[in-house]
Amino acid sequence: MIDLHIHSYYSDGVYSPKELVQCAKELGLSTVCLTDHNGIDGVEEFLTTGQSLGMKVISGVEIYSYLDVGGLSNNRKHIHILGYDFDTKNKALNKALKKLQKRHIPQVKTTIKALQEHEWNIDEKKVFDTKATYIGSATIAGVIIKDSQNWERIQKDFKNRKIIPITEIIGKYFFKAYGRIYEESEISIEKAITLIKNAGGKIVLAHPGQHLSWEDEDIIVELKQIGLDGIEAVTSHHSWQEIEHWQIVAKELDLMITVGSDFHGYVPKEWDFIIRGPWDYFFQQCDRYSRHFLNLG
Ligand SMILES: [Zn+2]
Ligand SMILES: [Zn+2]
Repeated sequence: MIDLHIHSYYSDGVYSPKELVQCAKELGLSTVCLTDHNGIDGVEEFLTTGQSLGMKVISGVEIYSYLDVGGLSNNRKHIHILGYDFDTKNKALNKALKKLQKRHIPQVKTTIKALQEHEWNIDEKKVFDTKATYIGSATIAGVIIKDSQNWERIQKDFKNRKIIPITEIIGKYFFKAYGRIYEESEISIEKAITLIKNAGGKIVLAHPGQHLSWEDEDIIVELKQIGLDGIEAVTSHHSWQEIEHWQIVAKELDLMITVGSDFHGYVPKEWDFIIRGPWDYFFQQCDRYSRHFLNLG
């Protein structure tokens, strides 16, 4: 079994790179890749652990990027680009990712301030004390829900539902209740592709069903021209129909087809996921963690 899309606590995942590899080994995966958002700080630990356990491990990253379709900024698509098997020591790549992480800090501070203004208990220090080198929305949300008063408030807002997915918490408080108080930091897709290519890596479009429609094949053609090597057709974000559709697109355009769970570590087991099979191990882990994380006892 292969999984080429996993997150650690260096972005918005829960586990350390070492724990992820150990867990993958225990559950019989043969090839794994860590793809943290906008950062590669966990890759060395991931690779070293994997090698010592005799697994095939690949360097990886998931870069938030944007594509202005037809060169128009009002026709902007937000696309996640996966980079694989690159030189982790590449200077330009490391520099660009560090710059992106730094550029994101004011955004994180603005979001925290907005939350404080709406009387959430959130200490900026706690957010910046996390291991995350790129602080995403889930990292901030993770700090919020660990406070018991905040958690009570959330439960009340969600009418005491037993399971409250973190994506719903983010959607409600970061994008709706007080307007849009959070944005991810991105680079242009051309830049993301160039950085990975120059570091000797391959480019894969992450979970296209999340950002593109079935009519967007022209965009894939455009991306292929600038260096796209593959499509993550098999992902937990896709329905069976989408998995089939994106495999057909990949085959038609002679692109690789890749498989990735996009495991972060805190998705409750009770979520109605469509895909089963290689992801069973994630459910076990998710369950273990979500009970602790969501105070379910
Ligand atoms: Zn993604
Ligand atoms: Zn991801």
